[in-house]
Parts: sequence; C-alpha cells; structure tokens
Amino acid sequence: QAKARGRNGYRFYAPSMSAEGLDRLRLEAMLRRAIEKQEVFLHYQPQVDIDSGRLVGVEALVRWHNPELGLVPPARFVPVAEDMGFIGQLGQWVLAQACRQMVCWDEAGLHVPKMAVNLSVRQFERGSIAPLVAGALREAGLDAGRLQLEVTESVIMNTGDALEYINDLRAIGVGLAIDDFGTGYSSLAYLKQLPVQTLKIDRSFIKDIPADADDEAIAVAIIQLGKSLDLSVIAEGVECAEQAAFLLRHGCRHAQGYLYGRPAAPGEILARWGKPQGQGNDDAIGAGEPD
Ligand code: C2E
Ligand code: MG
Ligand code: MG
Ligand code: MG
Repeated sequence: QAKARGRNGYRFYAPSMSAEGLDRLRLEAMLRRAIEKQEVFLHYQPQVDIDSGRLVGVEALVRWHNPELGLVPPARFVPVAEDMGFIGQLGQWVLAQACRQMVCWDEAGLHVPKMAVNLSVRQFERGSIAPLVAGALREAGLDAGRLQLEVTESVIMNTGDALEYINDLRAIGVGLAIDDFGTGYSSLAYLKQLPVQTLKIDRSFIKDIPADADDEAIAVAIIQLGKSLDLSVIAEGVECAEQAAFLLRHGCRHAQGYLYGRPAAPGEILARWGKPQGQGNDDAIGAGEPD
C-alpha cells in the first residue's frame, strides 16, 4: 500500500479514490437502502406557547439508524441525500409519515394542533411539489391547515420558480414557515411577497441570551419584524427559563427547545402531552434524545 499519510497530514491514495470518496460511496449506498430497510424514522419536538405552556405543534426531525454506522445525525446525511438526488424520496417519506403520525395521535386522543416538516431547497428543483404534498395529506386524511412546511431563505433565493411553487403550496392550504430566519440572504422585499405565516428565529441568536446584547437586539428586531408583517414568530433552541422570559417580554409567544422537550419518539410525545395535566404522570415522561 502506498504511504498513507504525507508530511503535512494529507493522505495519498490511488487517484480515483480519496478517503472521503470511499466513505461517501459507502454512505450513499447505505442511505439509498435506508428507507426500505426501515432504518429511517422520525422524532418530534414540541413547540409550545410560552405563557400557558400549551402544545401548539411539533416539528418532525428525521433520524437514521444504521446497524453499522449507528445513529447518523441529519446534518450528516441530509446533505448527502441532497447531493445524490435522494432527497425527493426521503422528503416524501418524511411527509407521508409525519401526516400519518398526526392522525395516529388524533386517534389516541392527543390533538397536536400543527405538524411542522422541513423541506430541502433541492425538493424545489424538479417542479411544483404541491401535488405530492396534497397526496400525502389525502392519503393520511389530514387537514392541510394542520401541516406547516419549513423552508429556509435559500429556497427563496436559489430556485428560479420557488416563489411560484411556494404559492402553489399556499394554495392547497398548508402553512409555511421560514426556518433558521436571520441566517440566510433573503431581502425584506422578498419576505413581503411570500405567503408565509411564521418566522423561526434561528437558534444561533437565542443560545447566548441573556449574555450577548447583540443577539438580544437581533432577536427583538426579528420579533418586531414579525409583528409589523403580521407573522407569527417562534424561537428555536430555547434551553433556559431566562430565554423564555426574555422572548415573552418582547412579544414572542412561541418557542421550541430543550427547555420544553428534546426530539422524541411518538409514544413519548403521547405520554408527555396526551394526558390531562396535573395527573401526576411525570414519572412516565421520557427525556427524549440524550446529548
Ligand atoms: P432545524 O430544522 O433548524 O431543526 C432544529 C434542530 O435544532 C434539530 O436538530 C433539533 O434537534 C435542534 N434543537 C432543538 N432544540 C434545541 C436546543 O434547545 N438546543 C440545541 N442545541 N439544539 C436544539 P436535528 O434534529 O439534528 O436537525 C438538524 C437539521 O437537519 C434541521 O435543522 C434541518 O435543517 C435538518 N433536518 C432534520 N430533519 C429533516 C427532514 O426531515 N428534512 C430535511 N430536508 N431536513 C431535515
Ligand atoms: Mg426546521
Ligand atoms: Mg430551524
Ligand atoms: Mg436551525
């Protein structure tokens, strides 16, 4: 075997294959079969009304557990799925599963008002996805008004026909949220044209509240912007009571984060939120995902 590591720590292999390339090919092959092998599943993270503590929705977050690789985080495999042209299938599976889950909870006596599902920018590249979304809703028997699709600002800026496709989605009655708001490149003029109802303040602006005055100023500015444009605002990554109090004081009513619950399996959501409060079922509460 050729010398594996050069002087500067670079690796040298046969020209067609880098360590990353090898890894990547295996990863792609495994990912391509992950759905049929039932290695992919969804966890759900609560979204709450800060003041009342009531559940206002959940966000579906995709998980991949491979016997060889263990639990692979979405930050690792979603970009791979995007690059290999698999995100359409993956996204469709997520959508169908999330819609079915809402109906399962309904039947179990837990009414989750809203299901938020992430969409990748790449899902907007092959034409309008409104018919696929409508199909998932119809198949599950879920009202369009209970589904909210999360898109990032890049969807709006990078895709030629995105505005048209987003309008198609709005036309079938689903809600739209801008995810990770404040980290992208969308202009305020664009925001005005978009048929969105919700801004999600990115976690990066929340995590250092109350220590960082700049982050506090940004969070307040986003809340104000939402108010001016008549949009609802939700903060992501809320981990402590001070952050929640800060948000509420500045007019942000909804939050999502470890303070209220980590992403968790459907049964854990049911155990935590499905029973009338005050029945002392705290012992049954799963902690959701560990760190
Ligand atoms: P996101 O949509 O912004 O989701 C929020 C992420 O923040 C989730 O990470 C969640 O577990 C994490 N989070 C929530 N609250 C807290 C908190 O209080 N503290 C900290 N430190 N983290 C918190 P996750 O599940 O690893 O997902 C990462 C990203 O992967 C998501 O960011 C989203 O962009 C993408 N993703 C996840 N599921 C899907 C999916 O089904 N489709 C697509 N296209 N992307 C997905
Ligand atoms: Mg999201
Ligand atoms: Mg987000
Ligand atoms: Mg984020």
